[in-house]
Amino acid sequence: MFISELFKNKKVVFSFEIFPPKSTSSINTIYNTLNELNNLNPDYISVTYGAGGSVANNKTLELSAYIKNTLNIEPLAHLTCINSKKEEIDNLLLELRKNNVENILALRGDVPDDNLKIGEYNYAYELVEHINNKNKFCIGAACYPEGHIQSQNLEEDIDNLKFKVDCGVDFLVSQLFFDNNLFYNFLDKSIKKGIKVPIQAGIMPVTNKKQIQRIVSLCGAKLPDKFIKIMDRYENHPEALRDAGIAYALEQIVDLVSSGVSGIHLYTMNNPYVAKKITEGVKTILNSLNDVKEAV
Ligand code: FAD
Repeated sequence: MFISELFKNKKVVFSFEIFPPKSTSSINTIYNTLNELNNLNPDYISVTYGAGGSVANNKTLELSAYIKNTLNIEPLAHLTCINSKKEEIDNLLLELRKNNVENILALRGDVPDDNLKIGEYNYAYELVEHINNKNKFCIGAACYPEGHIQSQNLEEDIDNLKFKVDCGVDFLVSQLFFDNNLFYNFLDKSIKKGIKVPIQAGIMPVTNKKQIQRIVSLCGAKLPDKFIKIMDRYENHPEALRDAGIAYALEQIVDLVSSGVSGIHLYTMNNPYVAKKITEGVKTILNSLNDVKEAV
């Protein structure tokens, strides 16, 4: 099923993201994680590509096929253009098709510091166009509520986003953020620029301080004072910090859902405990809005 259909049938689409493990020795763990996430009945599960592992050793296809054909959940396979040749992309599209994977998150990928030329594509919109010229897939793309870290400002980034969407994007998934007002401002500006596809809010429950420092350095998300206080207060109490991080994410989600967002995409960091706590916390709210299967 195309994920775009889910947005038509549900008030709020609720999905998870996982990443393939770096080492092949931990591959069993990721299958256990997926089996646990399956019990939470997400609308779809996305699998990153290249991020946190090497492209050459990519497990995105294998894990997406398992999600579709064994768990019977829609997978969203991420695909980046970094260092990819069109021929390689075509082969991967064929493999995805053969494995019944119909949904792709088309991304540029992060440009390695030492590599100014990134392959045959420079931007995600070129990958979107290329996929659209092939077999029909449902295509998602990334968006950035605070502007992409390399763009001059939010306005310029949204202009580029509009161009990308017009190349054939069916829905958008946002970068993580910790201040909902920044997301609402972004939604407002995107609608004014004529972006009409559903935009899912990306939420990451932060469960340790190192994780947050890394994320902020990578994507530049702003940290509200309230959030910093939590990090400082519980930094030496791992369990308290984890629970406070989950509570903060839940508060964000309840506010977003109450404000009518199209969907929530949870960056699970391959942690089923955190995904379970969040799902339990929003289950009643989502069920009251959607006619969904019992979760958890
Ligand atoms: P683009 O849409 O190409 O944008 C990149 C930059 O170029 C922006 O600054 C944009 O404003 C600018 N730009 C775009 N179009 C034009 C144009 N026509 N002219 C001039 N400038 C333009 N990375 C991975 O490696 N693997 C993953 O699995 C992965 N998953 C992700 C999932 C989500 C939901 C998100 C939000 C990000 C993910 N990323 C992943 C990170 C992503 O690859 C990086 O943020 C990357 O730097 C940008 O990718 P993009 O697809 O948004 O690029």
